[in-house]
Amino acid sequence: VAAASGGLVAYADSGSDAAVEQPQLPPRKKVVVLGTGWGGTTFLRNLDSRLYDVQVISPRNYFAFTPLLPSVTSGTVEPRSIVEPIRRVLEKKGGEIKFWEAECFKIDPQSKKIHCRSNVGTSLEGNGEFLVDYDYLVVAVGARTNTFNTPGVVENCHFLKEVEDAQKIRRSVMDCFERASLPFLNEEERKKNLHFVVVGGGPTGVEFAASLHDFVTEDLSKLYPSIQHLVKISLIEAADHILTMFDKRITNFAEDKFGRDGIDVKTGYKVVKVSKDDITMQNPATGDISVPYGMAVWSTGIGTRPFVVEFMKQIGQANRRVLATDEWLRVRECDGVYAIGDCATINQRKVMEDISEIFRVADKDKSGTLTVKEIQDILDDIYVRYPQVQLYLKSKQMNGIADLVRSAKGDAEKESVELNIEEFKKALSLVDSQVKFLPATAQVASQQGQYLARCFNKMKDAEENPEGPIRIRGEGRHRFRPFRYRHLGQFAPLGGEQTAAQLPGDWISIGHSSQWLWYSVYATKQISWRTRMLVVSDWTRRFIFGRDSSC
Ligand code: FAD
Ligand code: MG
Ligand code: MG
Ligand code: MG
Ligand code: MG
Repeated sequence: VAAASGGLVAYADSGSDAAVEQPQLPPRKKVVVLGTGWGGTTFLRNLDSRLYDVQVISPRNYFAFTPLLPSVTSGTVEPRSIVEPIRRVLEKKGGEIKFWEAECFKIDPQSKKIHCRSNVGTSLEGNGEFLVDYDYLVVAVGARTNTFNTPGVVENCHFLKEVEDAQKIRRSVMDCFERASLPFLNEEERKKNLHFVVVGGGPTGVEFAASLHDFVTEDLSKLYPSIQHLVKISLIEAADHILTMFDKRITNFAEDKFGRDGIDVKTGYKVVKVSKDDITMQNPATGDISVPYGMAVWSTGIGTRPFVVEFMKQIGQANRRVLATDEWLRVRECDGVYAIGDCATINQRKVMEDISEIFRVADKDKSGTLTVKEIQDILDDIYVRYPQVQLYLKSKQMNGIADLVRSAKGDAEKESVELNIEEFKKALSLVDSQVKFLPATAQVASQQGQYLARCFNKMKDAEENPEGPIRIRGEGRHRFRPFRYRHLGQFAPLGGEQTAAQLPGDWISIGHSSQWLWYSVYATKQISWRTRMLVVSDWTRRFIFGRDSSC
Protein backbone atom coordinates (compact mmCIF):
# COMPACT_ATOMS: atom_id res chain seq x y z
CA VAL A 1 0.00 0.00 0.00
CA ALA A 2 2.79 2.38 0.91
CA ALA A 3 4.49 1.76 -2.42
CA ALA A 4 1.26 2.37 -4.27
CA SER A 5 0.74 5.60 -2.42
CA GLY A 6 4.25 6.71 -3.29
CA GLY A 7 3.44 6.02 -6.90
CA LEU A 8 0.27 8.04 -6.72
CA VAL A 9 1.93 11.04 -5.14
CA ALA A 10 4.77 10.98 -7.63
CA TYR A 11 2.30 10.64 -10.42
CA ALA A 12 0.15 13.51 -9.22
CA ASP A 13 3.24 15.70 -8.95
CA SER A 14 4.92 14.89 -12.23
CA GLY A 15 1.79 15.21 -14.31
CA SER A 16 3.50 14.61 -17.65
CA ASP A 17 3.97 10.94 -17.60
CA ALA A 18 2.72 10.37 -21.14
CA ALA A 19 5.59 12.50 -22.40
CA VAL A 20 8.10 10.39 -20.47
CA GLU A 21 6.84 7.16 -21.95
CA GLN A 22 6.77 8.39 -25.55
CA PRO A 23 9.21 11.28 -25.84
CA GLN A 24 8.87 11.70 -29.59
CA LEU A 25 5.07 12.05 -29.68
CA PRO A 26 3.08 15.01 -28.46
CA PRO A 27 1.47 14.13 -25.12
CA ARG A 28 -1.86 12.47 -25.48
CA LYS A 29 -4.92 14.17 -24.06
CA LYS A 30 -5.84 12.99 -20.58
CA VAL A 31 -9.13 11.21 -20.21
CA VAL A 32 -10.28 10.57 -16.65
CA VAL A 33 -13.16 8.17 -16.06
CA LEU A 34 -15.04 8.21 -12.76
CA GLY A 35 -16.79 4.94 -11.98
CA THR A 36 -16.48 1.29 -12.99
CA GLY A 37 -20.16 0.43 -13.24
CA TRP A 38 -22.20 -0.08 -16.38
CA GLY A 39 -21.48 3.30 -17.92
CA GLY A 40 -17.78 3.58 -17.09
CA THR A 41 -16.88 -0.01 -17.90
CA THR A 42 -18.69 -0.01 -21.25
CA PHE A 43 -16.97 3.25 -22.15
CA LEU A 44 -13.56 1.78 -21.31
CA ARG A 45 -14.15 -1.44 -23.18
CA ASN A 46 -15.03 0.47 -26.35
CA LEU A 47 -12.44 3.23 -26.14
CA ASP A 48 -9.39 3.13 -28.37
CA SER A 49 -7.00 3.54 -25.47
CA ARG A 50 -3.99 4.21 -27.71
CA LEU A 51 -5.41 7.63 -28.52
CA TYR A 52 -5.51 8.93 -24.97
CA ASP A 53 -3.78 8.85 -21.65
CA VAL A 54 -6.57 7.16 -19.70
CA GLN A 55 -7.01 7.02 -15.93
CA VAL A 56 -9.89 5.34 -14.15
CA ILE A 57 -10.96 6.21 -10.62
CA SER A 58 -13.49 4.26 -8.63
CA PRO A 59 -13.90 3.17 -5.02
CA ARG A 60 -14.68 -0.34 -6.31
CA ASN A 61 -12.00 -2.20 -8.22
CA TYR A 62 -14.54 -4.37 -10.00
CA PHE A 63 -17.55 -4.23 -12.27
CA ALA A 64 -20.76 -5.77 -10.91
CA PHE A 65 -23.49 -7.25 -13.05
CA THR A 66 -26.37 -5.59 -11.18
CA PRO A 67 -29.31 -7.40 -12.85
CA LEU A 68 -28.25 -10.55 -11.00
CA LEU A 69 -27.98 -8.91 -7.56
CA PRO A 70 -31.46 -10.10 -6.52
CA SER A 71 -30.32 -13.65 -7.32
CA VAL A 72 -27.37 -13.19 -4.98
CA THR A 73 -29.69 -12.36 -2.06
CA SER A 74 -31.15 -15.84 -2.23
CA GLY A 75 -27.94 -17.67 -3.04
CA THR A 76 -29.10 -18.66 -6.53
CA VAL A 77 -25.95 -17.02 -7.84
CA GLU A 78 -22.72 -16.53 -5.93
CA PRO A 79 -21.34 -13.01 -5.48
CA ARG A 80 -18.06 -13.82 -7.21
CA SER A 81 -19.94 -14.97 -10.31
CA ILE A 82 -21.28 -11.51 -11.05
CA VAL A 83 -18.17 -9.42 -10.55
CA GLU A 84 -15.23 -8.88 -12.87
CA PRO A 85 -12.05 -7.21 -11.61
CA ILE A 86 -11.64 -3.94 -13.46
CA ARG A 87 -7.91 -4.53 -13.78
CA ARG A 88 -8.70 -7.64 -15.80
CA VAL A 89 -10.94 -5.61 -18.10
CA LEU A 90 -8.19 -3.02 -18.51
CA GLU A 91 -5.50 -5.64 -19.04
CA LYS A 92 -7.39 -6.84 -22.11
CA LYS A 93 -6.98 -3.32 -23.50
CA GLY A 94 -3.21 -3.72 -23.63
CA GLY A 95 -2.48 -2.56 -20.11
CA GLU A 96 -2.16 1.12 -20.97
CA ILE A 97 -5.02 2.33 -18.81
CA LYS A 98 -4.28 3.25 -15.21
CA PHE A 99 -6.64 2.51 -12.36
CA TRP A 100 -6.74 4.20 -8.96
CA GLU A 101 -8.97 2.76 -6.26
CA ALA A 102 -10.29 5.97 -4.79
CA GLU A 103 -13.32 8.14 -4.55
CA CYS A 104 -13.65 11.50 -6.24
CA PHE A 105 -15.01 14.03 -3.77
CA LYS A 106 -14.73 17.23 -5.75
CA ILE A 107 -14.60 18.32 -9.37
CA ASP A 108 -12.93 21.61 -10.18
CA PRO A 109 -14.00 22.46 -13.73
CA GLN A 110 -12.08 25.77 -13.81
CA SER A 111 -8.64 24.26 -13.33
CA LYS A 112 -9.73 20.91 -14.83
CA LYS A 113 -8.73 18.89 -11.80
CA ILE A 114 -10.48 16.38 -9.64
CA HIS A 115 -9.90 15.78 -5.96
CA CYS A 116 -9.72 12.15 -4.89
CA ARG A 117 -9.38 10.23 -1.69
CA SER A 118 -8.01 6.73 -1.52
CA ASN A 119 -10.21 4.30 0.31
CA VAL A 120 -7.75 1.46 0.71
CA GLY A 121 -6.93 2.17 4.30
CA THR A 122 -5.40 4.39 6.90
CA SER A 123 -1.83 3.17 6.45
CA LEU A 124 -1.37 5.80 3.74
CA GLU A 125 0.83 8.77 4.42
CA GLY A 126 -1.17 11.93 4.90
CA ASN A 127 -4.88 11.58 4.39
CA GLY A 128 -4.72 9.65 1.15
CA GLU A 129 -5.91 12.61 -0.91
CA PHE A 130 -4.56 13.47 -4.34
CA LEU A 131 -5.31 15.58 -7.39
CA VAL A 132 -5.69 14.39 -10.96
CA ASP A 133 -5.86 16.70 -14.00
CA TYR A 134 -7.94 15.96 -17.02
CA ASP A 135 -8.56 17.24 -20.49
CA TYR A 136 -11.72 15.19 -20.73
CA LEU A 137 -13.67 13.94 -17.74
CA VAL A 138 -16.28 11.18 -18.02
CA VAL A 139 -18.53 11.17 -14.98
CA ALA A 140 -20.15 7.73 -14.62
CA VAL A 141 -20.59 7.52 -10.86
CA GLY A 142 -24.16 6.20 -10.81
CA ALA A 143 -26.67 7.14 -8.16
CA ARG A 144 -27.26 6.53 -4.48
CA THR A 145 -30.36 5.01 -2.92
CA ASN A 146 -32.98 7.59 -2.07
CA THR A 147 -34.54 7.38 1.38
CA PHE A 148 -36.55 10.59 0.92
CA ASN A 149 -35.20 11.46 4.39
CA THR A 150 -37.56 8.95 5.96
CA PRO A 151 -36.50 8.60 9.61
CA GLY A 152 -34.83 5.36 10.59
CA VAL A 153 -34.30 3.99 7.09
CA VAL A 154 -30.52 4.31 6.97
CA GLU A 155 -30.18 2.77 10.43
CA ASN A 156 -32.65 -0.11 10.06
CA CYS A 157 -33.17 -1.05 6.43
CA HIS A 158 -31.07 -2.90 3.92
CA PHE A 159 -30.45 -1.43 0.49
CA LEU A 160 -29.89 -3.47 -2.63
CA LYS A 161 -27.38 -1.60 -4.73
CA GLU A 162 -23.98 -3.19 -4.26
CA VAL A 163 -22.70 -6.74 -4.03
CA GLU A 164 -22.04 -6.26 -0.30
CA ASP A 165 -25.69 -5.28 0.16
CA ALA A 166 -26.86 -8.51 -1.44
CA GLN A 167 -24.52 -10.56 0.76
CA LYS A 168 -25.74 -8.76 3.88
CA ILE A 169 -29.36 -9.37 2.95
CA ARG A 170 -28.71 -13.04 2.50
CA ARG A 171 -27.04 -13.33 5.87
CA SER A 172 -29.83 -11.35 7.47
CA VAL A 173 -32.53 -13.65 6.03
CA MET A 174 -30.73 -16.65 7.49
CA ASP A 175 -30.34 -14.87 10.84
CA CYS A 176 -34.07 -14.21 10.93
CA PHE A 177 -34.81 -17.90 10.39
CA GLU A 178 -32.29 -19.00 13.01
CA ARG A 179 -33.57 -16.44 15.50
CA ALA A 180 -37.17 -17.50 14.91
CA SER A 181 -36.15 -21.12 15.61
CA LEU A 182 -34.71 -20.46 19.07
CA PRO A 183 -36.50 -22.39 21.82
CA PHE A 184 -37.41 -19.54 24.16
CA LEU A 185 -39.41 -17.40 21.69
CA ASN A 186 -43.18 -17.13 21.73
CA GLU A 187 -45.29 -17.29 18.57
CA GLU A 188 -45.54 -13.49 18.25
CA GLU A 189 -41.77 -13.11 18.38
CA ARG A 190 -41.28 -15.87 15.84
CA LYS A 191 -43.76 -14.18 13.52
CA LYS A 192 -42.03 -10.84 13.91
CA ASN A 193 -38.67 -12.34 12.98
CA LEU A 194 -40.15 -14.01 9.93
CA HIS A 195 -41.87 -10.90 8.60
CA PHE A 196 -39.87 -9.67 5.60
CA VAL A 197 -40.77 -6.23 4.32
CA VAL A 198 -39.83 -4.88 0.91
CA VAL A 199 -40.40 -1.16 0.44
CA GLY A 200 -40.84 -0.12 -3.20
CA GLY A 201 -42.76 -1.90 -5.94
CA GLY A 202 -40.39 -1.10 -8.80
CA PRO A 203 -38.49 -3.78 -10.74
CA THR A 204 -35.84 -4.27 -8.05
CA GLY A 205 -38.27 -4.54 -5.12
CA VAL A 206 -40.55 -6.89 -7.03
CA GLU A 207 -37.73 -9.13 -8.18
CA PHE A 208 -36.28 -9.28 -4.70
CA ALA A 209 -39.66 -10.17 -3.16
CA ALA A 210 -40.12 -12.89 -5.78
CA SER A 211 -36.68 -14.39 -5.25
CA LEU A 212 -37.11 -14.32 -1.48
CA HIS A 213 -40.43 -16.12 -1.87
CA ASP A 214 -38.77 -18.80 -4.03
CA PHE A 215 -35.95 -19.21 -1.54
CA VAL A 216 -38.42 -19.62 1.33
CA THR A 217 -40.84 -22.00 -0.37
CA GLU A 218 -38.36 -24.09 -2.35
CA ASP A 219 -35.48 -24.37 0.08
CA LEU A 220 -35.94 -22.94 3.56
CA SER A 221 -39.35 -24.52 4.17
CA LYS A 222 -37.67 -27.93 4.07
CA LEU A 223 -34.99 -26.88 6.51
CA TYR A 224 -37.26 -25.08 8.95
CA PRO A 225 -40.48 -27.14 8.77
CA SER A 226 -41.78 -26.13 12.20
CA ILE A 227 -41.77 -22.39 11.53
CA GLN A 228 -42.28 -22.17 7.78
CA HIS A 229 -46.01 -21.39 8.14
CA LEU A 230 -45.14 -18.22 10.10
CA VAL A 231 -43.22 -16.58 7.24
CA LYS A 232 -44.75 -13.48 5.71
CA ILE A 233 -43.47 -11.28 2.90
CA SER A 234 -44.94 -7.78 2.47
CA LEU A 235 -44.37 -5.52 -0.50
CA ILE A 236 -45.21 -1.88 0.17
CA GLU A 237 -45.75 0.59 -2.62
CA ALA A 238 -46.93 4.20 -2.36
CA ALA A 239 -48.51 4.29 -5.82
CA ASP A 240 -51.71 2.45 -6.76
CA HIS A 241 -49.89 -0.37 -8.51
CA ILE A 242 -46.56 -2.15 -8.60
CA LEU A 243 -44.33 -2.20 -11.70
CA THR A 244 -45.92 0.97 -13.08
CA MET A 245 -43.19 1.37 -15.70
CA PHE A 246 -44.40 -1.83 -17.37
CA ASP A 247 -47.45 -2.54 -19.50
CA LYS A 248 -50.74 -2.86 -17.60
CA ARG A 249 -50.95 -6.58 -18.44
CA ILE A 250 -47.66 -7.25 -16.69
CA THR A 251 -48.67 -5.21 -13.65
CA ASN A 252 -51.92 -7.15 -13.35
CA PHE A 253 -50.25 -10.50 -13.81
CA ALA A 254 -47.64 -9.68 -11.19
CA GLU A 255 -50.20 -8.49 -8.65
CA ASP A 256 -52.32 -11.61 -9.20
CA LYS A 257 -49.37 -13.95 -9.00
CA PHE A 258 -48.08 -12.37 -5.80
CA GLY A 259 -51.63 -12.62 -4.40
CA ARG A 260 -51.70 -16.35 -5.14
CA ASP A 261 -48.21 -16.80 -3.71
CA GLY A 262 -49.28 -15.18 -0.45
CA ILE A 263 -47.05 -12.13 -0.82
CA ASP A 264 -48.93 -9.28 0.82
CA VAL A 265 -48.92 -6.45 -1.72
CA LYS A 266 -49.83 -3.19 0.00
CA THR A 267 -50.34 -0.50 -2.61
CA GLY A 268 -51.23 3.06 -1.69
CA TYR A 269 -49.14 2.85 1.50
CA LYS A 270 -46.29 5.21 2.18
CA VAL A 271 -43.65 4.27 4.72
CA VAL A 272 -43.08 7.23 7.03
CA LYS A 273 -40.86 5.82 9.77
CA VAL A 274 -38.77 2.75 10.48
CA SER A 275 -37.67 1.82 13.98
CA LYS A 276 -35.70 -1.18 15.17
CA ASP A 277 -38.85 -3.27 15.63
CA ASP A 278 -41.63 -1.64 13.62
CA ILE A 279 -42.33 -0.11 10.28
CA THR A 280 -44.87 2.71 10.23
CA MET A 281 -46.83 3.37 7.08
CA GLN A 282 -49.57 5.69 6.05
CA ASN A 283 -52.67 5.38 3.96
CA PRO A 284 -55.36 8.07 3.63
CA ALA A 285 -58.06 5.57 4.59
CA THR A 286 -56.42 3.81 7.51
CA GLY A 287 -54.10 6.52 8.87
CA ASP A 288 -50.82 5.39 10.43
CA ILE A 289 -50.28 1.71 11.03
CA SER A 290 -47.23 0.10 12.59
CA VAL A 291 -46.21 -3.47 11.93
CA PRO A 292 -43.43 -5.46 13.56
CA TYR A 293 -40.85 -6.86 11.16
CA GLY A 294 -37.74 -9.00 11.13
CA MET A 295 -35.93 -7.59 8.12
CA ALA A 296 -36.64 -4.74 5.69
CA VAL A 297 -35.21 -3.91 2.28
CA TRP A 298 -35.57 -0.36 1.02
CA SER A 299 -35.78 0.02 -2.73
CA THR A 300 -37.70 3.15 -3.66
CA GLY A 301 -35.66 4.92 -6.24
CA ILE A 302 -32.43 6.79 -6.65
CA GLY A 303 -30.92 10.15 -5.82
CA THR A 304 -27.87 12.22 -6.72
CA ARG A 305 -24.56 11.70 -4.94
CA PRO A 306 -23.54 14.61 -2.66
CA PHE A 307 -20.36 15.52 -4.55
CA VAL A 308 -22.33 15.65 -7.79
CA VAL A 309 -24.84 17.97 -6.10
CA GLU A 310 -21.90 20.23 -5.15
CA PHE A 311 -20.60 20.15 -8.70
CA MET A 312 -24.06 21.08 -10.02
CA LYS A 313 -24.10 24.11 -7.72
CA GLN A 314 -20.76 25.24 -9.11
CA ILE A 315 -21.92 25.08 -12.71
CA GLY A 316 -25.29 26.73 -12.32
CA GLN A 317 -27.43 23.60 -12.09
CA ALA A 318 -28.34 24.12 -8.43
CA ASN A 319 -32.06 24.06 -9.10
CA ARG A 320 -31.99 20.68 -10.84
CA ARG A 321 -32.34 17.24 -9.30
CA VAL A 322 -30.07 15.38 -11.72
CA LEU A 323 -26.97 16.52 -13.59
CA ALA A 324 -28.03 17.61 -17.08
CA THR A 325 -26.17 17.01 -20.31
CA ASP A 326 -26.96 17.84 -23.90
CA GLU A 327 -27.74 15.13 -26.44
CA TRP A 328 -24.02 14.58 -27.02
CA LEU A 329 -23.71 13.73 -23.30
CA ARG A 330 -21.68 16.88 -22.62
CA VAL A 331 -22.29 18.64 -19.35
CA ARG A 332 -23.52 22.09 -20.27
CA GLU A 333 -21.29 25.10 -19.65
CA CYS A 334 -18.47 22.83 -18.61
CA ASP A 335 -15.69 22.32 -21.11
CA GLY A 336 -14.51 18.74 -21.53
CA VAL A 337 -16.89 17.16 -19.00
CA TYR A 338 -19.24 14.36 -20.03
CA ALA A 339 -21.74 12.46 -17.90
CA ILE A 340 -23.42 9.11 -18.55
CA GLY A 341 -25.71 6.63 -16.82
CA ASP A 342 -27.69 7.02 -13.62
CA CYS A 343 -25.86 10.16 -12.48
CA ALA A 344 -27.05 12.19 -15.46
CA THR A 345 -30.02 12.97 -17.59
CA ILE A 346 -30.22 14.28 -21.13
CA ASN A 347 -31.85 17.63 -21.51
CA GLN A 348 -33.50 17.15 -24.87
CA ARG A 349 -33.59 20.39 -26.85
CA LYS A 350 -37.16 21.60 -27.36
CA VAL A 351 -38.42 22.42 -30.84
CA MET A 352 -40.33 25.44 -29.56
CA GLU A 353 -37.14 26.96 -28.15
CA ASP A 354 -35.54 26.89 -31.58
CA ILE A 355 -38.58 27.37 -33.73
CA SER A 356 -37.58 30.73 -35.23
CA GLU A 357 -34.14 29.40 -36.06
CA ILE A 358 -35.59 26.28 -37.66
CA PHE A 359 -37.93 28.45 -39.69
CA ARG A 360 -35.10 30.69 -40.82
CA VAL A 361 -32.93 27.78 -41.92
CA ALA A 362 -35.80 26.05 -43.71
CA ASP A 363 -36.94 29.15 -45.57
CA LYS A 364 -34.26 28.90 -48.24
CA ASP A 365 -35.81 31.38 -50.63
CA LYS A 366 -36.32 33.93 -47.83
CA SER A 367 -39.97 34.31 -48.80
CA GLY A 368 -41.13 34.49 -45.21
CA THR A 369 -43.25 31.37 -45.69
CA LEU A 370 -42.48 27.67 -45.81
CA THR A 371 -43.70 25.26 -48.43
CA VAL A 372 -44.09 21.58 -47.66
CA LYS A 373 -41.07 20.97 -49.83
CA GLU A 374 -38.96 23.44 -47.87
CA ILE A 375 -39.92 21.69 -44.66
CA GLN A 376 -39.25 18.29 -46.17
CA ASP A 377 -35.76 19.32 -47.24
CA ILE A 378 -34.58 19.79 -43.68
CA LEU A 379 -36.69 17.05 -42.19
CA ASP A 380 -33.84 14.57 -41.72
CA ASP A 381 -31.91 17.16 -39.74
CA ILE A 382 -34.99 17.90 -37.66
CA TYR A 383 -35.59 14.22 -36.94
CA VAL A 384 -32.03 13.71 -35.78
CA ARG A 385 -31.87 16.84 -33.67
CA TYR A 386 -35.41 16.62 -32.28
CA PRO A 387 -36.50 12.96 -32.16
CA GLN A 388 -39.74 14.02 -30.49
CA VAL A 389 -41.04 15.20 -33.90
CA GLN A 390 -41.02 11.68 -35.26
CA LEU A 391 -42.54 10.30 -32.06
CA TYR A 392 -45.27 12.92 -32.26
CA LEU A 393 -46.12 12.12 -35.87
CA LYS A 394 -46.27 8.44 -34.94
CA SER A 395 -48.49 9.06 -31.93
CA LYS A 396 -50.94 10.98 -34.15
CA GLN A 397 -50.69 8.32 -36.87
CA MET A 398 -49.45 10.89 -39.33
CA ASN A 399 -47.28 9.75 -42.19
CA GLY A 400 -45.22 12.83 -42.56
CA ILE A 401 -44.87 16.51 -42.13
CA ALA A 402 -47.39 17.23 -44.91
CA ASP A 403 -50.14 15.86 -42.67
CA LEU A 404 -49.02 18.14 -39.90
CA VAL A 405 -48.95 21.15 -42.20
CA ARG A 406 -52.42 20.35 -43.48
CA SER A 407 -53.76 19.88 -39.99
CA ALA A 408 -52.38 23.30 -39.05
CA LYS A 409 -54.03 24.93 -42.04
CA GLY A 410 -57.30 23.02 -41.92
CA ASP A 411 -58.06 19.98 -44.03
CA ALA A 412 -59.45 21.78 -47.07
CA GLU A 413 -56.09 22.95 -48.31
CA LYS A 414 -53.71 20.75 -50.25
CA GLU A 415 -50.03 20.34 -51.14
CA SER A 416 -49.57 23.92 -52.25
CA VAL A 417 -50.00 25.35 -48.77
CA GLU A 418 -47.42 27.66 -47.31
CA LEU A 419 -47.02 28.37 -43.63
CA ASN A 420 -45.98 31.63 -42.09
CA ILE A 421 -44.04 31.60 -38.84
CA GLU A 422 -47.14 31.72 -36.64
CA GLU A 423 -48.73 28.81 -38.48
CA PHE A 424 -45.48 26.88 -38.35
CA LYS A 425 -45.33 27.41 -34.60
CA LYS A 426 -48.91 26.24 -34.26
CA ALA A 427 -48.24 23.10 -36.32
CA LEU A 428 -45.33 22.09 -34.09
CA SER A 429 -46.66 23.44 -30.82
CA LEU A 430 -47.39 20.02 -29.34
CA VAL A 431 -44.40 17.98 -30.50
CA ASP A 432 -42.36 18.72 -27.37
CA SER A 433 -44.91 16.82 -25.31
CA GLN A 434 -43.21 13.70 -26.68
CA VAL A 435 -39.84 14.42 -25.07
CA LYS A 436 -38.97 11.36 -23.00
CA PHE A 437 -36.61 10.96 -20.08
CA LEU A 438 -34.54 7.84 -20.28
CA PRO A 439 -34.89 5.32 -17.44
CA ALA A 440 -32.06 4.69 -14.98
CA THR A 441 -31.07 1.32 -16.34
CA ALA A 442 -27.95 -0.62 -17.24
CA GLN A 443 -29.22 -0.64 -20.80
CA VAL A 444 -29.15 3.16 -21.03
CA ALA A 445 -25.83 3.49 -19.18
CA SER A 446 -24.07 0.94 -21.38
CA GLN A 447 -25.42 2.36 -24.64
CA GLN A 448 -24.25 5.79 -23.54
CA GLY A 449 -20.83 4.43 -22.65
CA GLN A 450 -20.55 2.81 -26.05
CA TYR A 451 -21.75 5.93 -27.88
CA LEU A 452 -19.34 8.18 -26.02
CA ALA A 453 -16.38 5.88 -26.65
CA ARG A 454 -17.13 5.97 -30.37
CA CYS A 455 -17.23 9.77 -30.28
CA PHE A 456 -13.89 9.81 -28.46
CA ASN A 457 -12.41 7.40 -30.95
CA LYS A 458 -13.34 9.80 -33.74
CA MET A 459 -12.69 13.02 -31.87
CA LYS A 460 -9.45 13.96 -33.64
CA ASP A 461 -11.02 13.37 -36.97
CA ALA A 462 -13.93 15.55 -35.92
CA GLU A 463 -11.73 18.39 -34.74
CA GLU A 464 -9.93 18.50 -38.05
CA ASN A 465 -13.19 18.20 -39.92
CA PRO A 466 -15.89 19.89 -37.89
CA GLU A 467 -18.54 20.00 -40.59
CA GLY A 468 -21.25 17.62 -39.47
CA PRO A 469 -24.64 16.45 -40.50
CA ILE A 470 -26.61 18.43 -37.94
CA ARG A 471 -26.73 22.11 -38.61
CA ILE A 472 -30.07 23.40 -37.57
CA ARG A 473 -29.06 25.47 -34.62
CA GLY A 474 -26.47 28.17 -34.85
CA GLU A 475 -24.81 26.74 -31.72
CA GLY A 476 -22.13 25.03 -33.76
CA ARG A 477 -21.97 22.22 -36.21
CA HIS A 478 -21.73 18.71 -34.96
CA ARG A 479 -19.73 15.96 -36.43
CA PHE A 480 -21.64 13.35 -34.49
CA ARG A 481 -25.24 12.45 -34.37
CA PRO A 482 -26.77 12.98 -30.95
CA PHE A 483 -27.08 9.98 -28.67
CA ARG A 484 -30.10 7.91 -29.53
CA TYR A 485 -31.38 5.24 -27.13
CA ARG A 486 -32.51 1.89 -28.54
CA HIS A 487 -34.84 0.16 -26.15
CA LEU A 488 -34.30 -3.60 -26.36
CA GLY A 489 -36.98 -4.57 -23.88
CA GLN A 490 -37.19 -5.20 -20.19
CA PHE A 491 -37.72 -8.18 -17.91
CA ALA A 492 -39.54 -8.55 -14.62
CA PRO A 493 -38.74 -11.89 -12.99
CA LEU A 494 -41.70 -12.86 -10.82
CA GLY A 495 -40.51 -16.07 -9.19
CA GLY A 496 -41.46 -19.72 -9.69
CA GLU A 497 -39.53 -19.80 -12.97
CA GLN A 498 -41.86 -17.22 -14.46
CA THR A 499 -40.77 -13.92 -15.95
CA ALA A 500 -42.62 -11.10 -17.65
CA ALA A 501 -40.94 -9.58 -20.67
CA GLN A 502 -41.84 -6.39 -22.45
CA LEU A 503 -40.05 -6.26 -25.75
CA PRO A 504 -39.89 -3.53 -28.39
CA GLY A 505 -43.15 -2.86 -30.18
CA ASP A 506 -44.99 -3.54 -26.90
CA TRP A 507 -44.66 -7.26 -27.39
CA ILE A 508 -45.55 -8.88 -24.09
CA SER A 509 -44.67 -12.37 -23.00
CA ILE A 510 -45.24 -13.78 -19.56
CA GLY A 511 -44.45 -17.19 -18.15
CA HIS A 512 -41.94 -20.01 -18.29
CA SER A 513 -40.84 -19.36 -21.86
CA SER A 514 -39.79 -15.80 -20.98
CA GLN A 515 -37.88 -17.22 -18.04
CA TRP A 516 -35.75 -19.14 -20.53
CA LEU A 517 -35.35 -16.01 -22.60
CA TRP A 518 -34.22 -14.27 -19.41
CA TYR A 519 -31.62 -16.99 -18.72
CA SER A 520 -30.25 -16.78 -22.21
CA VAL A 521 -30.15 -12.98 -22.37
CA TYR A 522 -28.38 -12.67 -19.03
CA ALA A 523 -25.93 -15.42 -19.91
CA THR A 524 -25.13 -13.63 -23.15
CA LYS A 525 -24.77 -10.22 -21.55
CA GLN A 526 -22.05 -11.38 -19.14
CA ILE A 527 -18.93 -9.28 -19.36
CA SER A 528 -16.50 -12.20 -19.73
CA TRP A 529 -16.45 -15.93 -20.46
CA ARG A 530 -15.31 -16.47 -16.90
CA THR A 531 -18.39 -14.85 -15.31
CA ARG A 532 -20.63 -16.48 -17.93
CA MET A 533 -19.34 -19.93 -16.96
CA LEU A 534 -19.73 -19.17 -13.27
CA VAL A 535 -23.27 -17.85 -13.60
CA VAL A 536 -24.43 -20.75 -15.75
CA SER A 537 -22.89 -23.27 -13.39
CA ASP A 538 -24.56 -21.52 -10.42
CA TRP A 539 -27.91 -21.88 -12.17
CA THR A 540 -27.23 -25.53 -12.90
CA ARG A 541 -26.17 -26.21 -9.33
CA ARG A 542 -29.38 -24.59 -8.12
CA PHE A 543 -31.49 -26.79 -10.43
CA ILE A 544 -29.83 -29.93 -9.14
CA PHE A 545 -29.15 -29.25 -5.46
CA GLY A 546 -31.30 -26.21 -4.64
CA ARG A 547 -29.96 -23.05 -3.04
CA ASP A 548 -27.28 -23.11 -0.41
CA SER A 549 -28.54 -21.87 2.93
CA SER A 550 -25.31 -21.74 4.92
CA CYS A 551 -23.75 -18.34 5.40
P1 FAD B 1 -23.22 2.20 -11.65
O1 FAD B 1 -23.28 0.95 -12.42
O2 FAD B 1 -23.92 2.26 -10.34
O3 FAD B 1 -21.70 2.53 -11.44
C1 FAD B 1 -21.26 3.63 -10.67
C2 FAD B 1 -19.78 3.48 -10.45
O4 FAD B 1 -19.26 4.69 -9.90
C3 FAD B 1 -19.42 2.39 -9.47
O5 FAD B 1 -18.27 1.73 -9.94
C4 FAD B 1 -19.11 3.15 -8.20
O6 FAD B 1 -18.25 2.46 -7.36
C5 FAD B 1 -18.46 4.39 -8.77
N1 FAD B 1 -18.48 5.56 -7.90
C6 FAD B 1 -19.39 5.90 -6.97
N2 FAD B 1 -19.03 7.04 -6.37
C7 FAD B 1 -17.86 7.44 -6.92
C8 FAD B 1 -16.99 8.54 -6.72
N3 FAD B 1 -17.25 9.45 -5.80
N4 FAD B 1 -15.86 8.62 -7.46
C9 FAD B 1 -15.59 7.68 -8.39
N5 FAD B 1 -16.39 6.62 -8.63
C10 FAD B 1 -17.51 6.51 -7.91
N6 FAD B 1 -30.76 -2.21 -15.18
C11 FAD B 1 -31.18 -2.89 -16.26
O7 FAD B 1 -31.09 -2.37 -17.36
N7 FAD B 1 -31.69 -4.16 -16.14
C12 FAD B 1 -31.80 -4.79 -14.95
O8 FAD B 1 -32.27 -5.91 -14.87
C13 FAD B 1 -31.36 -4.08 -13.78
N8 FAD B 1 -31.46 -4.67 -12.57
C14 FAD B 1 -30.98 -4.01 -11.48
C15 FAD B 1 -31.03 -4.64 -10.24
C16 FAD B 1 -30.54 -4.00 -9.10
C17 FAD B 1 -30.60 -4.69 -7.78
C18 FAD B 1 -29.99 -2.70 -9.22
C19 FAD B 1 -29.45 -1.98 -8.01
C20 FAD B 1 -29.95 -2.06 -10.45
C21 FAD B 1 -30.44 -2.71 -11.58
N9 FAD B 1 -30.42 -2.09 -12.84
C22 FAD B 1 -30.84 -2.78 -13.95
C23 FAD B 1 -29.98 -0.69 -12.97
C24 FAD B 1 -28.51 -0.58 -13.35
O9 FAD B 1 -27.71 -1.31 -12.46
C25 FAD B 1 -28.08 0.87 -13.33
O10 FAD B 1 -28.92 1.63 -14.12
C26 FAD B 1 -26.64 0.98 -13.84
O11 FAD B 1 -25.78 0.34 -12.95
C27 FAD B 1 -26.22 2.42 -14.04
O12 FAD B 1 -24.89 2.46 -14.47
P2 FAD B 1 -23.90 3.61 -14.03
O13 FAD B 1 -22.62 3.37 -14.71
O14 FAD B 1 -24.58 4.91 -14.21
O15 FAD B 1 -23.77 3.43 -12.46
MG1 MG C 1 -20.29 3.61 -14.30
MG1 MG D 1 -22.99 -1.39 -12.21
MG1 MG E 1 -29.39 8.75 -16.89
MG1 MG F 1 -40.08 29.98 -48.37
